[in-house]
Amino acid sequence: MSTTKFGEYGGQYVPEVLMPAIEELTDAYERYVLENEDGFMDEFRERLADFGGRPTPLQRADQLSERYDADVYLKREDLLHGGAHKLNNALGQVLLAKYMGKERIVAETGAGQHGTATAMAAAHLDMPCEIYMGRRDINRQRPNVFRMRLNGAEVVPVTVGRGTLKEAINETMREWATSVEDTHYVIGSIVGPHPFPRMVRDFQAVIGEEAREQIQDKAGRLPDSVVACAGGGSNTMGAFHEFVPDAEDGDTTLFAVEAGGEGLFVDEDEGVAPHSASLSSGDEGVLHGARTKLLQDADGQIVESHSVSSGLDYAGVGPELSYLVDEGHVTPVSVDDDAALEGFHRLSQVEGIIPALESAHAVAFLEQQLGPDGVPAGTAERDLGDVIVLNLSGRGDKDLESAIEETEKRDIDAAPDMGVFHE
Ligand SMILES: *Cc1c(COP(=O)(O)O)cnc(C)c1O
Repeated sequence: MSTTKFGEYGGQYVPEVLMPAIEELTDAYERYVLENEDGFMDEFRERLADFGGRPTPLQRADQLSERYDADVYLKREDLLHGGAHKLNNALGQVLLAKYMGKERIVAETGAGQHGTATAMAAAHLDMPCEIYMGRRDINRQRPNVFRMRLNGAEVVPVTVGRGTLKEAINETMREWATSVEDTHYVIGSIVGPHPFPRMVRDFQAVIGEEAREQIQDKAGRLPDSVVACAGGGSNTMGAFHEFVPDAEDGDTTLFAVEAGGEGLFVDEDEGVAPHSASLSSGDEGVLHGARTKLLQDADGQIVESHSVSSGLDYAGVGPELSYLVDEGHVTPVSVDDDAALEGFHRLSQVEGIIPALESAHAVAFLEQQLGPDGVPAGTAERDLGDVIVLNLSGRGDKDLESAIEETEKRDIDAAPDMGVFHE
């Protein structure tokens, strides 16, 4: 039996009507994923290879290594089909739905990255698919809406509340509760009620399994640190999971880089936080079926979060990460929007890799700790060691439009001549 909790975090805080669905899914998770019944995991791995392009490379970043006087290796999840780590989870869950005899997929999406990965996986496995998306996000993310439709998915607008990810998740859970007999809900990160946080982690753990072997081949030893950005935390736990025993032994430090946005505070009057750093500065509460660290006001109301990268813009975080932070095995850090933009330009210029704005936060953390300007005032100094694995969760093609806009607002050292945008 899989336990529903990570210490005091996690659990199954759902309405009674959802319990049958959760129990059926828990049973399927234990049989197919944990026990490989009917060869489920073998088929999953084979499809990840043939359709997804796994394994992804672990590449030594020569220029960054020189700049930071350390061996920096990039785990290239940007090279996975679809351009980010999200396919690992979407493919796993859609395949699981097939094994469960489900005939339809629903999923929620914020910026559209998870919706796109789910639509791709559903098309690949010939499953009808509906993606719930806030109306505001549909208007902001037209290319991803088009991508989902191209792959045959129906995009369903969610109009309640402010029309963003939080409302879309609630709406999808509600829809799932009424259609559980033939429908599986593909959640997009290591959040939600048990078994989702464990199951999504297990599908993403392939990142760290590959990286741990690859780094020993290439560097001849384990890394001193593994660095990954954290929104909900699926690329994070995917990269970390295999290294958690090394962290417990004190051999490897795991850094979860959160979106510091425009500063780590909560505006109580407005009910907003200009950041998304729930591990660094959140308090315990319940959101989307799980107890975890959350951004809340003094009354315990969830506040609106912010990040320049839509994939990190979430007021909660996976319960397992909350637990590992309390246990001292994961170190939460944050970098702000400006630093992330610098990281975006830095990696593009020195390595020829345009990172997702989410992944750029991880690059920015290295720059702050190891770059020539030294650690900024007010930021703690961290020991990253000599061998560093950075999980590059995705590529930045999806972010070009907002990168132009955000770059124009700023004076960016790593972007020498951005005048081209004004031509
Ligand atoms: C969605 C996304 C993230 C954030 O999601 P996690 O669950 O925190 O991994 C990070 N990077 C990229 C490229 C994404 O698309």
